[in-house]
Parts: sequence; C-alpha cells; structure tokens
Amino acid sequence: MAFLKLHSTKLIVFIASWGCVACDQGSSASPPASEDAWGQPTTHPAQLFFASDCSPKVRDGVQLGLAKAAALWGQYGPLEYWVMGTDEEAGQALIRSFCDRRAELKNKVWGGCMSHHQEEASQHNMLSYLRVGQEAIKRNQPSSAMGRNGQREWGLHIFASSYPFGFDRLFDQVYPEEEIKTLFHEYFHAVQHAHLFTKEHAQREALLGPTWFVEGGAEYMALKGTATLWASGQLPRTQGYALPSFRERMRTILLDGKRYWQENCPDLHLSQMTYDHPCTHAAYSLGAWGHAWLAHRAGPDPYLDLFLPSVERLGWDSAFQHAFGLTPEAFDEAFHAFLLKETEEQLAILPDI
Ligand SMILES: [Zn+2]
Repeated sequence: MAFLKLHSTKLIVFIASWGCVACDQGSSASPPASEDAWGQPTTHPAQLFFASDCSPKVRDGVQLGLAKAAALWGQYGPLEYWVMGTDEEAGQALIRSFCDRRAELKNKVWGGCMSHHQEEASQHNMLSYLRVGQEAIKRNQPSSAMGRNGQREWGLHIFASSYPFGFDRLFDQVYPEEEIKTLFHEYFHAVQHAHLFTKEHAQREALLGPTWFVEGGAEYMALKGTATLWASGQLPRTQGYALPSFRERMRTILLDGKRYWQENCPDLHLSQMTYDHPCTHAAYSLGAWGHAWLAHRAGPDPYLDLFLPSVERLGWDSAFQHAFGLTPEAFDEAFHAFLLKETEEQLAILPDI
C-alpha cells in the first residue's frame, strides 16, 4: 500500500479527509482520579472526544476499534482519545475542550495549555493534528497522524488523532480496516506504557526499548490482532473490499522495509534505527518483522505474556533475554542475517491466521 507513513514515538500516520465544531463526547463517566491505579485493568472504556464535524462513521469506527483492541489485550486506563476533523472552528473548539479538561483535572494551567496547543508548526500539539487533516484535503492526498502524548505523571493515557478519513471512505485507497489497524497500533502503546510504573521519563524510555522494538511491536501486534479478529468474524469487514490477508500485509511491509533499508541504510542494523535517524521508516516495518522473528522463536505471544510483565522488574535487556531466549545483541546479528534471505523463506516464519 502506498500510504504515507510518518511515525514517531508520539505519532503514527496514514492518510485523508474533511472535518469534525468542538463537541466533546465522553463515552463514560470518569474513573476516580484520586488513587494511582496505573497498570491495573479497568472496567472504564476509553473516553472519546471528537471535533463536532466528525461524522457518525468516524465516531463509531474509533469507538469500535478501541473497544476491540481493549477486549483483546486488556482494558487499560484512564484513556482519553481526541479526534480532530478538518473544520477550523471545530478544531479550535476541541483544543479549548482539551485544555478545559487539563485544567479541570489539574494537569496543566489553562493558559499554558492553550498557548502550547495552539502554536503553529509545532509537532504533536493538538493543532498539528487539525493541520494534518486540512492538508490532506487541500492536497487531495491521504495523510494522517496519531500519537500517544502521555502522561504517566497524570495517571492518564492520552491520544490524539488527525481526521481518520478511512471511516468516511474519503480516499479510494483507504478503507476503514486500515483505520482500525491504526487504532490497534495506538492502543498497543497504552498496553506498553501500562506495564511501566516509574514516573521518571528517562527510565520509561529505557524500559520501552529501542524504536524498532516499540513501534515494530505495536505494528506487529496490531497486524496480528486485527487479522485474527477479522478471520474469526469478530471485526466487521467492508463489503466488496478484498481485505489483504495477514501474510499479504506482512509481505507488503517486508518488501517496503527491505527496499527502503537497502536503498538508504544497508549497513545499519535494526538496533540503530532510531526515531531521529533517516531510517526510522524502516524501523516500523522491519521492526514488526523483528517481532515476527522473535515470536517464531519463542512464540506465540512472548512480548505480551513474558516481556511486558517482567520489564519493570528486570530491566529491558534482561527482560528481552527472559522473554525471547537470546540477548538483544545476538538478536540484532541474527535478524540482520535473516533480512538478507529470500522473501519466501522469510514469509515461512509467519503464523497461519
Ligand atoms: Zn506508534
């Protein structure tokens, strides 16, 4: 698929749109804020906030995607998911609602929140998500951005998204299924963070692990999780759309990742592809394959069942070894050799879904 894909630790991307005036729509009562229940499964579903120009399809789609992901991996929270449209007034109103909420929960002073989130040309603030959707419409080119923007210190998982136009079928090449997979990817970041309890930023970064591990893990789990639910009929499919199989989707990102890697950074190992490096793009696709390789070795769900429950206690390196049965360095070497194999040989390690 030829989607533009921008990610960062706070960002996953895709494509297209029109828009949503700022009505916010909390989907449930707020959980009690007084105690620190971080990492404990909750019965409170994600709280959803949409700009008022978001269509019912967008609202229903986002709600469904997050609910299905939580049903698969556990409901973590409190979790807020903020969705922009493309209407300027609606977007600005959503920013005000966001800052009202931050002030109400004593996360941030309202004025400081507003000046940060209304700043132009700033990455990952609320306005940036509005602008991504608007640009997509203006250029008639699908692109989108989603991100987890904190915050352990507030005891919250907060996500923001540009207009998820796939739900409205605004661009021919983007189907609701792609948006659902993206929601699973984002939600998995909440799963990753829910297993880290420290409030020290540097410690959290170290425990999350390298870029390929964090983003590739979210991508692999999202691809595998959605494919499993589509196969069993637990996720709806768009009528008349030949949804690619898990194997086909993994093949696409393998070929895309290998081509990018060979053209731009053939000497680089997966461990060296960081967010700041030009080869970040490959870290997502090849990182997902890194997790496929690890699951093939230690499977079927070593990341979820072994790594995440032990990482805070053992530290990243030891938890890696505990979960996957080899050191990160040994993995890096072995996976580098694996990437040089023929595609068909690589595809053979995938589970049947
Ligand atoms: Zn991500």
